[in-house]
Amino acid sequence: MYNWVFYIIVFFVVGEYIFSQWLASRNRRAASPVLPEMLRGLYDERKYADQQNYFKVNNRFGLITSTYTTLLVLLMLFLGGFGWLDTWAFSLFEKLIPATLFFFFVLFLVNDLLTIPFDWYDTFVIEDRFGFNKTTRKTFVADKLKSWLFGIVIGGLLLAAILWLYLWLGTSFWWVACIVVVAFSMLMNMFYSEWIVPLFNKQTPLEEGELRNAIEKFANRAGFKLNNIYVIDGSKRSTKANAYFSGLGPKKRIVLYDTLIDDLSTEEIVAVLAHEIGHYKHKHTWQMMGVSVMNTVLMFFLLSLVLDSSVLAEAMGGSTPSFPLALVAFGLLYTPLELLTGIGINALSRRNEYQADAFAASFGLANALIGGLKKLSVKSLSNLTPDSLYVKVYYSHPTLLQRMAALQKYK
Ligand SMILES: [Zn+2]
Repeated sequence: MYNWVFYIIVFFVVGEYIFSQWLASRNRRAASPVLPEMLRGLYDERKYADQQNYFKVNNRFGLITSTYTTLLVLLMLFLGGFGWLDTWAFSLFEKLIPATLFFFFVLFLVNDLLTIPFDWYDTFVIEDRFGFNKTTRKTFVADKLKSWLFGIVIGGLLLAAILWLYLWLGTSFWWVACIVVVAFSMLMNMFYSEWIVPLFNKQTPLEEGELRNAIEKFANRAGFKLNNIYVIDGSKRSTKANAYFSGLGPKKRIVLYDTLIDDLSTEEIVAVLAHEIGHYKHKHTWQMMGVSVMNTVLMFFLLSLVLDSSVLAEAMGGSTPSFPLALVAFGLLYTPLELLTGIGINALSRRNEYQADAFAASFGLANALIGGLKKLSVKSLSNLTPDSLYVKVYYSHPTLLQRMAALQKYK
């Protein structure tokens, strides 16, 4: 069981833990108890102390959760827990498809149950203490049940389709599986707002009035055909605000959090919207989809190379080649590559954010956008001085200061 692949996997798991905690410690050191010059007046003394506290609490919480999950994975690895589960699944079901589905169902459920206390603590202790939480216990439980049901049905169907292709085509199944996964994620992207969001939130068309007029006026100026503007009840869970763009082609819609409408002025909301339209105009949705297709292709191709290997199954505590064991081993072996592709995707995404900001600024909305971003940042007590390397690895958006500096040029 403890073969060379086993040790590589352990090395990756421990390596990732050390790397992420090294970055988190750099981020701790970068946290500045003094407000950056450009943001004077943004926070008062007390509010900034809150922000520093919120950051420290989250940083410590991250250390605890990541230590806990890493230890769980190591425990499973060293005790051969995956191999044991594999034997159990195949003794119950014998056939590949039901046994594999059962294997991942148990893994998913156990993992989720073991991490629930952390979710609970995050929502009802940390977020609550800083005044963000609006989630009731009832909503929390309902969310969990719905996401389980959804994850089990959708994940199960997709996995069953992939397994069926594998049985039919052997290891050359990978490119057909790619097509299935890509088609599926396109579908999900198209119908996200209509199928998935309603499970968790209420969306209502933005009512007639000053805001809607201002938005429509802007959309006209920008040459953007806008027929769907929705307001979502984000306040059901948190006071934090947001806006996003979803869907493709005729299904595209702009969604504003009700909390955003409460906190920002009309001009600031228009600027935030202009930013979202900027993403659309620069075809960022399609570009990101292209990147994720390439990512899927790479992953399935590499998976097809190792799927039948008995070394992988042995490393996981199994005795014969096994699809679920190889899949788990592959997932763990993929960690460094996942980190690298993540860094690349985040760099691209940050570049897109600057482009979308520049689009908003080209309509004379630079000041309004800065105003809106500042309010959102203060409201969510976001970290104003993250470590630069931490930003490069994890941030999909530039920091507030970076965006302000870029927007100043358009004033
Ligand atoms: Zn954006």
